[in-house]
Amino acid sequence: MMFTETCLTILLLSAAQVFVSDSSSLQPPETAKDKQVMTLVIDPGHGGYDSGCVVPGLHEKVIALAFSRRLGQKITELDPYIHIIYTRTDDAAVPLQQRTAYGNQIQADAFVSIHCNAHHESVVKGFETYVYGEQAVECGHNHEEHASETTNNLSGPNAILSNLHQQKARTESIELAQHIQRGISRQALINNRGVKQGRFRVLKYSQVPSVLLEIGYLTNPSDRYNLQRNSYQNRLADQLAQSIIAYLRQESV
Ligand SMILES: [Zn+2]
Repeated sequence: MMFTETCLTILLLSAAQVFVSDSSSLQPPETAKDKQVMTLVIDPGHGGYDSGCVVPGLHEKVIALAFSRRLGQKITELDPYIHIIYTRTDDAAVPLQQRTAYGNQIQADAFVSIHCNAHHESVVKGFETYVYGEQAVECGHNHEEHASETTNNLSGPNAILSNLHQQKARTESIELAQHIQRGISRQALINNRGVKQGRFRVLKYSQVPSVLLEIGYLTNPSDRYNLQRNSYQNRLADQLAQSIIAYLRQESV
């Protein structure tokens, strides 16, 4: 079903308000009233009919949602001036184009999509940070799901402006990815597989700094075990929260 641009805008703005976390109602304390309010979109991968990677007894969409909420809570605890908007808060199927549009419509300060990976060799494990790039590397994830092309219906000056925003955002996305990777390396919680490029559709048309995080391999016994533990998720979320805040606040990590 196709929506007109106007209808889509109304839908997105309405939905974005629904998904704003409780942190949006916080009033800045007197001592920090000059601190800039920022907005982060957290996108739990998949949902609904789309389970993502599936291993016996475990669906990627479930881990992605649980970890996304934990990450959002950690960021709110550490910096209540960063508003968290989730692209989904339950087992809903949200179109990829709509997920990207959330960030673009509100001109978010960053967009982070959360996924788990899979590989036919169970020894493959670790954490990867993806930015959009045509030089995509081989990846165990189902890229067909994420990379199917769509036409950009903008034309003329709007298309040029959109491309300029995308180019700027891609440069900033690399900076965000580097912040995250430095944190992962320092904490040594999980095998660090580095920053990579991927043709992920959810990143392609983003006009804000955007990364897709593969937080572990569900096909690897060690990663799979860890990702189901609250204590591990808390430690990983805490590390990521610090890195993302450092990027948003332009602090060194
Ligand atoms: Zn995924």
